[in-house]
Amino acid sequence: MSKLIFKIKHLLIRLNYKRNVLLGYIEKNGEPKKCSYCKCKKLETYEVFRHDQGFVEEYWVRCSKCKKKVGVWAYGSWY
Ligand SMILES: [Zn+2]
Repeated sequence: MSKLIFKIKHLLIRLNYKRNVLLGYIEKNGEPKKCSYCKCKKLETYEVFRHDQGFVEEYWVRCSKCKKKVGVWAYGSWY
């Protein structure tokens, strides 16, 4: 049962990703291009997490208009 739920969840995430690419909200690599809530193209980085040695481990991107979170970059990939 929980395996089925997992499969459905995974499918929904994949469909959502494809939809967002088609609509131009994100690049194919997952990088956000515009806000999926208000369609504003001005995005800003608002949280940066650094490793002890100084390099960036993770940062969050939000819409500069409605302030909603539109993407997370961590260790070289977009989520
Ligand atoms: Zn927005």
